[in-house]
Amino acid sequence: MDAEGLSADELFCFLKAKRNEDRSYSHILSSMCTTPHPVAVQAHNLFMETNLGDPGLFPGTAQLEDHLIRWFADLYQEPSAGGCTTSGGTESNIQVLRFCKKTKQVKNPNIIVPASAHFSFEKACGMMDVEMRVAPIDDQYRMIPDATGELIDKNTCCIVSVAGTTEYGMTDPIPALGKLAEQEGVHLHVDAAFGGYVLPFIDHAPPFDFSVPGVGSISVDPHKMGMSTIPSGILMVRDERVFCNLLVETPYLTTKQAYSLTGTRPGASVAAAYAVMAYLGRTGMKALVTGCMENTRRLIEGMEAFGVPRKVTPDVNVATFDHVSVPSPWTVSYTRKGDLRIVCMPHVTRDVVESFLTDFGESYVS
Ligand code: PLP
Repeated sequence: MDAEGLSADELFCFLKAKRNEDRSYSHILSSMCTTPHPVAVQAHNLFMETNLGDPGLFPGTAQLEDHLIRWFADLYQEPSAGGCTTSGGTESNIQVLRFCKKTKQVKNPNIIVPASAHFSFEKACGMMDVEMRVAPIDDQYRMIPDATGELIDKNTCCIVSVAGTTEYGMTDPIPALGKLAEQEGVHLHVDAAFGGYVLPFIDHAPPFDFSVPGVGSISVDPHKMGMSTIPSGILMVRDERVFCNLLVETPYLTTKQAYSLTGTRPGASVAAAYAVMAYLGRTGMKALVTGCMENTRRLIEGMEAFGVPRKVTPDVNVATFDHVSVPSPWTVSYTRKGDLRIVCMPHVTRDVVESFLTDFGESYVS
């Protein structure tokens, strides 16, 4: 830092130049984040300084968090479910492991995750000294319940399943896993960081929510398909009492106990998540998701017409193909197995898909 500060003009000239070095979403086909909805940006700005780590100071913002949780309890078909906001999928998954470990109270706890699980579980297990057992997935990239059962022992404190996997957009057989979890008395967490905003708005989607017996918790991220601002996650639990194990005294705040992982917590992105759902309603959310799914199908059809086959037919708007290169300036990603992966987020409109297919078709030599 220099002794004298910059003028506002100099500062913002520099900041704008830095921002211009960033990629714009217009050609990004690899991200699970997107341009936030305009109402999210407006709400975020309105609540910029709010801190949900001290909710007594911001009762209006805290009420928005409560509303959001009630909406998800309703959407996930368990009106008595509880929950809280987090910074995203990673924090939600860490919180699940924290309460599962505390509840189980065994010396060498383990969890079982599918081979398709997000890498946040590796972080969470490392932090908490929990063994991570990896259950195999089938040729459709879904967790295999029988093989999962074989990994359970008396130290298993959580089974993790995924609704809308990061790499292939698949949903695990959650009813069968719920049955297993109930039989074995183990908590079942559904990581729906991506799919939690998609599956409720698709007809005949695979079941993943609290209507499935055995599902104990569900994580979902407004900063992905919820078109909210970053950072924004939600952790829903069937029985709120699981959070009691995480309570710590917070003597100098307006509330005397807290179970959240972070202390200072943004109210702005919570207000933004609220704003998008309030503004779009179920009808608007369904239209958004329907559009993304139609674009995904069009992309798959277009790529197959060039002779590039899909890897699977996804449950959500993530399309994967045999490994091929794509022309610049398009940014795509490749899965651990090397397959081409494209996420049809709201910024990947029909025009963007057509434009990508045209560029791809011109550059592709089969
Ligand atoms: N879980 C799943 C299924 C995800 O796809 C992701 C991120 O893409 C996460 C968890 C982690 O979310 P975040 O990056 O918001 O922490």
